[in-house]
Amino acid sequence: MDEHEYTGHLHIHSTFSDGSATVPEIAADAAKAGLDFIVITDHNTLEGLDRGLEGRHNGVLVLFGTEINMRKNHYIAFGVRAKVPQNEEDPQKVIDDVNGMGGFGYLAHPVEKSNPVFLQGRFYPWDKWDVSGFTGLEIWNFGSLWRSAFRNKLQAFFLYFTDPYKGARYPDPQGLALWDSLSRERPLVAFAGSDAHGIKVRFGPFKLKIFPYDFLFRTLNTHILLEEELPAEVGRARKQVFDALRAGRFFIGSDYLGHTRGFRFTAGNDGKDEVSMGQELPFSSTTGLHIVSPSPRGLIRIIKNGRLLHESSLQEIRFKVPEPGVYRVEVHRRTLLGRLLPWIYSNPIYLK
Ligand SMILES: [Zn+2]
Ligand SMILES: [Zn+2]
Repeated sequence: MDEHEYTGHLHIHSTFSDGSATVPEIAADAAKAGLDFIVITDHNTLEGLDRGLEGRHNGVLVLFGTEINMRKNHYIAFGVRAKVPQNEEDPQKVIDDVNGMGGFGYLAHPVEKSNPVFLQGRFYPWDKWDVSGFTGLEIWNFGSLWRSAFRNKLQAFFLYFTDPYKGARYPDPQGLALWDSLSRERPLVAFAGSDAHGIKVRFGPFKLKIFPYDFLFRTLNTHILLEEELPAEVGRARKQVFDALRAGRFFIGSDYLGHTRGFRFTAGNDGKDEVSMGQELPFSSTTGLHIVSPSPRGLIRIIKNGRLLHESSLQEIRFKVPEPGVYRVEVHRRTLLGRLLPWIYSNPIYLK
């Protein structure tokens, strides 16, 4: 299979809502971090799009989505060209409006936890579960996890300066379990992002920007796989990126632990690579998975219907599939101290 990989970052706020940097400043940071594309998702606005900022800045493709709702039930929409009305009490209405406009979307930080130390304990989970028609779930949100990880502000500041990644290095197991259980019913795409705001905080006499955009752009990235090169023309490039996101043809890579570029997960019959992440394949007695890890420091885990089925320390494996199911792959990376940390989450391949 011919696959072209592009690295991007989702879930970013700019000065059009509560972020601290302008779109060109954010794009410059994305270029510094080596990204190919970013999707800016300001709260309840598409002002960046309206002002004609979609396009390439410093070689980075800048696209716009929007994060709808404020107090709860945050929904991230892509592929919409006009503002979507909020509806916190009935988010089904938001999902339907987005779909009706030809867009798609996902539930942002759906299992967020409250932390009394931050924002006076305010938090923004998803609380209406009788909804349908959404494309995916955000399983790994850097800001949301980090904010809920600490017992007091002093500890937060200490860890920020000594190990800034620590609070967000594991996706919430509740979110993963939710994704696994819902994706047994229908295809469901897993998303990740940083919820980057470039927050400015005052600490005693000091004012500092914590988690600057260029730091976050080296953490939870989205690696899409395309059949052809990303076109120069912006409209066609936008369609390629959004089609890959909608289909789940990508993996989530924590590039903070080491570059994840080069990970591959395909399936096929008779030893062939026929389908990639987000796709379906009829199961047969010769169906196998083909997995390539970007580093020999990785431990590959094959997850079937939410359960660990097989693990391997090899860098490339072919695995004969015992039966139909929803198959996804995790790669955990060994740190220098020998500790295994989550590194890569594939989207599933559905064997019917
Ligand atoms: Zn949010
Ligand atoms: Zn957000």
